[in-house]
Amino acid sequence: MEGGARTIQAVGLGWDLHRLQVGRPLVLCNVTIPFEKGLLGHSDADVALHAVIDALLGAAGMGDIGEKFPPSEAKWKGADSGRLLRMVLADVTRAGWQVVNVDVTIVTEWPKLGPYKAQMRQRLAELLDVGGERVNIKAKTGEGVDAVGRGEAIAAQAIVGLG
Ligand code: MG
Repeated sequence: MEGGARTIQAVGLGWDLHRLQVGRPLVLCNVTIPFEKGLLGHSDADVALHAVIDALLGAAGMGDIGEKFPPSEAKWKGADSGRLLRMVLADVTRAGWQVVNVDVTIVTEWPKLGPYKAQMRQRLAELLDVGGERVNIKAKTGEGVDAVGRGEAIAAQAIVGLG
């Protein structure tokens, strides 16, 4: 770990799930991944960043992503979730917090995410203004069980430590 890091004083948990649909781009951690389906949603439906946003908001005691960016508001249609994350990070930073670490688990049957984990980690670290050693990305499958396992959806969980 690099020097000067703060001690964790608050943690937040985030979870999200989006349906997969043919004809949509698949964006995970702000990285576009080649696949015949993408996630359905009001924004770009980046399920991983939505989990990170909710974890950040949770740790800072600032509510949830639905309050911050209501799906009823047309201005968030097709929004780049990286931009939404930056807006939330600005609020969290203004409140005096600093990101200590973030750990993300993405659950998907297909595509296999191994080849993209390093890129997703780097991109998430850039978006959060932290070193790559403070970010971890894990990929799991649904073992063929439930909607995720049948390849109908992708889910993500994130935990964020703030200091
Ligand atoms: Mg979402």
